[in-house]
Amino acid sequence: MNAIKKSYIETFGCQMNERDSEIMGQVLSNADYIPTEDIKQADVIVLNTCSIRDKAEQKVYSLLGTLKKLKAKKPALIISVAGCVAQQEGKRLLTRMPQVDIVLGPQQIYRLSELVSKAVAMGKQQLAVNLSSSFEIPRHIPPSPVKSSEDEQTATASFKKVVTIMQGCNNFCTYCVVPYTRGRETSRPHDDIIAEITVLANQGVKEVTLLGQNVNSYGRTNDSTLQHITFPELLRNVAKIKGIKRLRFSTSNPKDLSPELIKCFAEIENLCPHFHLPVQSGSNHILKRMNRKYSIEEYLAKVKALRHIRPDIVLTTDIIVGFPGETDEDFQATMDLLETVRYQGAYSFKYSDRPQAKSVAFDDKVDEQIKSERLHRLQEKQKSINLQENQKYEGSIQSVMIEGESKNTDGQWKGRTMSNIIVNFDGSALSPGQEVQVKITEGLPHSLRGTLV
Ligand code: SF4
Repeated sequence: MNAIKKSYIETFGCQMNERDSEIMGQVLSNADYIPTEDIKQADVIVLNTCSIRDKAEQKVYSLLGTLKKLKAKKPALIISVAGCVAQQEGKRLLTRMPQVDIVLGPQQIYRLSELVSKAVAMGKQQLAVNLSSSFEIPRHIPPSPVKSSEDEQTATASFKKVVTIMQGCNNFCTYCVVPYTRGRETSRPHDDIIAEITVLANQGVKEVTLLGQNVNSYGRTNDSTLQHITFPELLRNVAKIKGIKRLRFSTSNPKDLSPELIKCFAEIENLCPHFHLPVQSGSNHILKRMNRKYSIEEYLAKVKALRHIRPDIVLTTDIIVGFPGETDEDFQATMDLLETVRYQGAYSFKYSDRPQAKSVAFDDKVDEQIKSERLHRLQEKQKSINLQENQKYEGSIQSVMIEGESKNTDGQWKGRTMSNIIVNFDGSALSPGQEVQVKITEGLPHSLRGTLV
């Protein structure tokens, strides 16, 4: 009998990477690998990397240093680097880090078990970083869940799924590496998406997030074999699948947010009232240099239209602080925007040069200390807005889908409102995926507290 083979996957960065890690887990599971949460037990280790921020990239190199020692003790161990750093560095990574056996780009993740077999059989490093202009996801993704690890998969995973509908991007924002690491925008066939979600719904999935780098431009692929279905049409069709109670999507470039999509929030009952709409800066001067292709006035008009049609919609955003050339006035415009929109969450970061991005060549970089001060001010302001906005829910009754028991407090459960806000509450004999009514007793900066109704 063969010994049990174990795999360990560490994910850095965005939701897109989380989904890719899930797929790689599935690919390895189909090749009889069982996931482990103990990296020392693994026969195959995958680091699924992100190059959007410098910090995440540095973490990968530091972990690879630790893994070198592990490999010295366990020479049969296969170390793979996937994701955007793998795509960006390619062969250089294999030369620089001889302990690495496999480097594979985001479009090559379906080949993981084949590459592992080759690395084992040939005892040679494997490189797979080709970028293709057509959608690389096999037409029928095996929908079976990953085999359970000794630590068991969380129950959350079984009622909530992320489904990729497109990948890549054609926008070339000047700070971003996605068009270079994930390739040009390409959409997955409508019928394949519907088929996958139907299978998931039959397996008990109640909440689906449609995922892509810029979902609003779904269906614009220049592929004559695809049906010409727009993103709002896709949303309407997914919403009709029996069993899907909550439908979300991520993420969107505001320039592609159409009136047709805004209307969906009034018309599709199970479309959750949450929109992550990355603004990046409140200054038109900076937006132009970022090549975002919208003005702040256009952005605000879309926010107004969304709130007009769906007053309870929750907006969240991404902000880059200290982009090259950002003056005090530009930064103040971003601070003012926080007050105007009153987001209920903002992912904010200091600008850092990313290899291949156009902004690397901009010579008016902002001083590190100024960037840190601005980021601190912005995060403090946003925290107080979060708190004030969350306090507005006090006394209201929210429909909460349970995700599991709270890790921090015994006897407490954690779930999310339709608008994606985390709620903690007491309860017994409950189960993940169940929808309950919770009376909100306290609004906190990043969550709500309540009691079961
Ligand atoms: S829209 Fe801009 S920031 Fe978003 S993935 Fe495309 S290039 Fe990157």
